[in-house]
Amino acid sequence: MKIGIFGGGQLGRMMALAGYPFNLRFSFYESAENCPSAPLGEVISDKVLGANSLEAFLASADVFTYEFENIPALLVEYIAQHKPVYPSVKSLAVSQNRLNEKQLFAKLGIPAAAYHQVHSQADLQQAVDTLGLPLVVKTTMGGYDGKGQFVIRQTEQVAQAWAELQQGLPLIAEAFIDFERELSMIAVRGQDGDTRCYPLAWNVHHQGILSHSVVPAPDVDAATQAQAEQYITSILHELNHVGVLTLEMFQTPDGLFANETAPRVHNSGHWSIEGAICSQFENHMRAVAGLPLGSTQELRPSAMINIIGQHPKTADILAIPEAHLHLYGKAERVGRKLGHITVTANDSNTLQVRMAQIAKCLPNQMAL
Ligand code: AMP
Repeated sequence: MKIGIFGGGQLGRMMALAGYPFNLRFSFYESAENCPSAPLGEVISDKVLGANSLEAFLASADVFTYEFENIPALLVEYIAQHKPVYPSVKSLAVSQNRLNEKQLFAKLGIPAAAYHQVHSQADLQQAVDTLGLPLVVKTTMGGYDGKGQFVIRQTEQVAQAWAELQQGLPLIAEAFIDFERELSMIAVRGQDGDTRCYPLAWNVHHQGILSHSVVPAPDVDAATQAQAEQYITSILHELNHVGVLTLEMFQTPDGLFANETAPRVHNSGHWSIEGAICSQFENHMRAVAGLPLGSTQELRPSAMINIIGQHPKTADILAIPEAHLHLYGKAERVGRKLGHITVTANDSNTLQVRMAQIAKCLPNQMAL
């Protein structure tokens, strides 16, 4: 079976690496011919093929999926008229738009930040007056890694926030959630409706980019894990989702608040390559190919550390017990995700020691 993937970044690369052992083969719809996925299949580039590229992509595979959600839904809809696409356009449309996400959370009774739709500077001022400060203002579409956001801390910043973010699309203004930490849950749903959830991950960000994740998130009680499972399962079923879905949440003294969804494999799930019985990538491939899902159970406490901006020395990382290096074949650039390291241990103290060893090998990493 051949899988066509919209996007040819590291997520596509790791999907393909997971699918190869059961004979899946791949094509990628991606502008950059030398993208991270290029060694693993045919890259169909709109830059090279122009108007014919979508037809060529459609002809190149049996089943389709995507590795990032900021693709025009129209392209995915076109493919879906002819061949199966998982997750469906419905899942994509929800995750692409923060307003749709908030409406879905409300419909399913999942707590989330109070919000206002913002179409003008006056709307934004009104949001400040009703929701109070600080106020988190976001573009409804297209934001990632903290881009397309402005935190208003003083009323005088309203005009600046409006000027920086408005691009003809509505904005969303959210009440600031005073969270203890950020957690995410990854789950997968098969074509037969079978659903499996991974343990909650604790995610730490640095300058808006995920720095590292620890799994299972330390000090999570069974009730919190069960609550998150109930939230994500209700989303999966509501969307009739097929494939992996990620739910990012804030943990507060009042419980979990949903922040956003991603209809795809996620950076906070990379630990699962070595840390779970079946990784998020393999499970996504199984779901897309209509195969039985694998166990999402963790094998041992695990951590994922992103390599950002500059590569470490390969030998330094591989000398650390139970550390695995995953490089994406990208050139170094400030703030760019170049790869990640997964590390496991039999207990969380040893995991902490190994994470500290890894931090010392990373040129750009703050203390873990
Ligand atoms: P997002 O793009 O929605 O994931 O937001 C990026 C980051 O901004 C999150 O990881 C949080 O650290 C922070 N953030 C987003 N929304 C809120 C909120 N309503 N309250 C507090 N912090 C937020």
